[in-house]
Amino acid sequence: MYLFKNCEVYGPRFLGKKDILTGGGIILAIEDRLEKPLGWDIDVIEGKGLRMIPGLIDSHVHIAGAGGEGGPATRTSEMQLSQMLMAGVTTVVGCLGTDGMTRSVESVLMKARGLKKEGVSAYIYTGAYQVPTPTILGDAGKDIAMIDEVIGTGEIALSDHRSSSPTVTELIRLAAHSRIGGMLGGKAGIVNIHMGDANNPFQPLYDVVQLSELPLTQFLPTHCNRNEHIFEEAKLYGVNGLVDLTTGSYPYFSDIEVKPSKAIAELLHSGVPLPHITMSSDGCGSIPQFDDSGNLVKLETASVMTLFNELRHAAINEGLGLENALQAVTSNVADILKIPAKGRIEVGKDADLVLIDSGFRIAHLCAMGLLMIKDGRLLSER
Ligand SMILES: [Zn+2]
Repeated sequence: MYLFKNCEVYGPRFLGKKDILTGGGIILAIEDRLEKPLGWDIDVIEGKGLRMIPGLIDSHVHIAGAGGEGGPATRTSEMQLSQMLMAGVTTVVGCLGTDGMTRSVESVLMKARGLKKEGVSAYIYTGAYQVPTPTILGDAGKDIAMIDEVIGTGEIALSDHRSSSPTVTELIRLAAHSRIGGMLGGKAGIVNIHMGDANNPFQPLYDVVQLSELPLTQFLPTHCNRNEHIFEEAKLYGVNGLVDLTTGSYPYFSDIEVKPSKAIAELLHSGVPLPHITMSSDGCGSIPQFDDSGNLVKLETASVMTLFNELRHAAINEGLGLENALQAVTSNVADILKIPAKGRIEVGKDADLVLIDSGFRIAHLCAMGLLMIKDGRLLSER
């Protein structure tokens, strides 16, 4: 059990200066003043001068590795626990990616289970770029309904030369199965879409909604900031649909991508409601660069740390303030992915807490009630 004293709490709404008691992995009490009961084994952590925020949720990470577009030597490695902790991330959603042929959803599931054993929270999407998409039980909906960690399908590639170019009917069927699997399993059943850079990238999703009863919010398209042209369309799409911005590719393509923190400000300015906007890192994903003939010329690996950096930039440089910027990486994600124990600092929620100092550095981090970073140092070995 921990008693955090005198923290400026952003839950993500600013709650003021509070004392917070955790125990059994959850937040037990939030009060102006809490005292340690005599005889109780509670560690007191002084939070004076620190801001407490919910642990970040990174909704798109290639936790079991990805890549391979340049041959076997270009496969990226698995995410280590320390990579997410140093980025203030306490909940991660794993996905497969381009390689649904030599890698498996099973390996993503087992990696997620490994991370949970190490003390953080982990979910996965079933599937890969391709449609029909690889699953564990033979159907995406069945995976979602029956496997605890599976909360949706993805990332399914659209508008990309690496996409299998699913027809509208194929997309409807996949999304409908995901949706029903979600209903049966009490999950989001959302379909995470990898947006490529072809023309009219959102058209397949508009077509799905027009030709079925599925809502636009059944889809969470990511990489919406990958170039100016997609981003302009995302400003319209986001009025009714969800828009996820990728932070991990920006450092490599800053000349063509829209900086994620700046993108949030621009989306809001264009009338996209804040609850529709999320950011994810694409961590451990390969960031390939192709020439005009489609040949791979360069390959980098995305970092989870970029999520924390863009949160800071959105809060400070873009003037959104911590309350608003935080929503894109905490409460909005929890709502969209239907993981209600996450993303907010409230009594009864999971004790996923990050304390940051005045320089926006992580001082302490607690995941599921366990302290994993103390005084800026990792307590875990991985
Ligand atoms: Zn992708």
